[in-house]
Amino acid sequence: MDHLPIFLNVKDVRALVVGNGTIAARKADLLLRAGCDLTVVAPELGDELARLAENYSFVHRSGELSADDLRGCVVVFGCSQDDSINQALFELATAAGVLVNVSDNTERCSFIMPAVVDRSPLLIAISSGGTSPLLTRMLKSRFETTIPAAYGRLAEFAGSYRDRIKALIPNLTRRRRFWETMISGPVAEHLFSSQLEQAETLMDTLLEEAAVAGDQPPGGEVYLVGTGPGDPDLLTFRALRLMQQADVVLYDRLIGDGILNLVRRDAERIYVGKLPQDHAVPQEEIGNMLIRLAQQGKRVLRLKGGDPFIFGRGGEEIEALSDNGIAFQVIPGVTAANGCASYAGIPLTHRDHAQSCVFVTGHEKDGELNLHWKSLIQPRQTVVLYMGLSSLGAITGGFISHGADPATPAAIIENGTRAGQRVITGTLDSLSDQTAQAGIKSPALIIIGSVVTLRDKLSWFANNP
Ligand code: SAH
Repeated sequence: MDHLPIFLNVKDVRALVVGNGTIAARKADLLLRAGCDLTVVAPELGDELARLAENYSFVHRSGELSADDLRGCVVVFGCSQDDSINQALFELATAAGVLVNVSDNTERCSFIMPAVVDRSPLLIAISSGGTSPLLTRMLKSRFETTIPAAYGRLAEFAGSYRDRIKALIPNLTRRRRFWETMISGPVAEHLFSSQLEQAETLMDTLLEEAAVAGDQPPGGEVYLVGTGPGDPDLLTFRALRLMQQADVVLYDRLIGDGILNLVRRDAERIYVGKLPQDHAVPQEEIGNMLIRLAQQGKRVLRLKGGDPFIFGRGGEEIEALSDNGIAFQVIPGVTAANGCASYAGIPLTHRDHAQSCVFVTGHEKDGELNLHWKSLIQPRQTVVLYMGLSSLGAITGGFISHGADPATPAAIIENGTRAGQRVITGTLDSLSDQTAQAGIKSPALIIIGSVVTLRDKLSWFANNP
């Protein structure tokens, strides 16, 4: 982040605009709407500033700019057509430690102005940090059309109850839930359709319910959410919704930053990552943490790479939850097999190549690959191996020694669906060496079967991460 976004309270605080053109008028308009005590320094007021003076009162000084003009100011704007005046303002402001913004000159700005969507008291400020004003404008017009004016009414209504509700519900988690119910329920709907009285009646009912419930923490819940193999675009709407309302999130190394950034900003984050061979937080401990946090009344988000029920130990985690009477939801995700296959241009089944597809784990237990070779080595079948990178040689060797053709096509996909995805194709007898040579790292998925040959034809159409 290159800038700190804040909203300044400038009510009755002094501010200065230097200049009298359209830009000066636009800045003056914003400052006056925010309740500033404004002074404009310019030889005379231009048309737009003069029009503004009909509706607002501000001081106009036609003399030369001096250090006195900045006294007590919190912000000053240089919008003069005369660059030497803007330079003088910049120097005075810098010396006095006052926030300064000179139009169209980022070097003379200690802050920049965002594009604003005004649904007062709700304000949305958008900035590209000066990199793309066009993008900022595009986003602004998108917000202008999608955020109804009634949201301002909703914010105002909520604000009028704030102190009462704080006193009535001291428990933070319970209070947050109260607001969520109010903002996403019938109270808001009535406000949107301008039925203020009905909204107030409904609000009274909510307040009565809150008073009866007392200050006990609310019941917690666990969301076991499959996030897909990495590309955030593969999240489901439901996953995103729950990610936005969680109080605490438990995640591991399969969850990339792109996805973590979509979790509610102020949710507590707990890393329970496991590196291969390095079980940082044992499974049992993760289960206990989920239970403990939910018992504190929190909405606990457990993020799982891919799908929680496909080699994700989701079953074990919910077993522990249900043993302890904790409410939970399981949200499926795109599993690595279909995410990686699609992004690599390898269809897992195909009329001419494979009518079945099996998912197996290549993870060794006590140094042993415990695979049912006979069922894996079948004609017209695709085999997808999860967690098989470290035992790749044993896997391809096992296929061959149990009767598979060494020329059977095979592929390995590293970082599927993510930036840096790599795909290597070969055959059972070549893949292990190719993988070592390329230095492929975890996470990597292995696909065995003649569908792999289709990649040459289809990868042109495959999604590029
Ligand atoms: N529940 C997950 C699988 C977890 S097991 C799912 O449904 O996808 C972890 C294994 O999944 C890794 O060892 C790797 O084989 C595979 N995997 C997960 N994400 C991957 C990715 N982005 N690229 C390649 N393989 C991936």
